[in-house]
Amino acid sequence: MVVKVIRCPSCGEVLELTDMFEGMEIHCELCGLVLIVKDDELLALDTNEVYSIDSLAFEEEEEEEELEEFEEDYYDYDYDYEE
Ligand SMILES: [Zn+2]
Repeated sequence: MVVKVIRCPSCGEVLELTDMFEGMEIHCELCGLVLIVKDDELLALDTNEVYSIDSLAFEEEEEEEELEEFEEDYYDYDYDYEE
């Protein structure tokens, strides 16, 4: 049973966790990163960086549409010359 699915903060690989407990080591098979579970955070052994589990959680139901909105306002300067 998969209890949590996260994305590796290093390579983005999807890691399915069948368990999660304090001090547990999560190994990314793709890049070899080791994450240690600490409360609701994950500590990356290599870099000592701490990631919140929520920020790495991969929710499949949640379709994240990456809308690349390049707003064209950039070219649409409003020159309000008040003379
Ligand atoms: Zn990885």
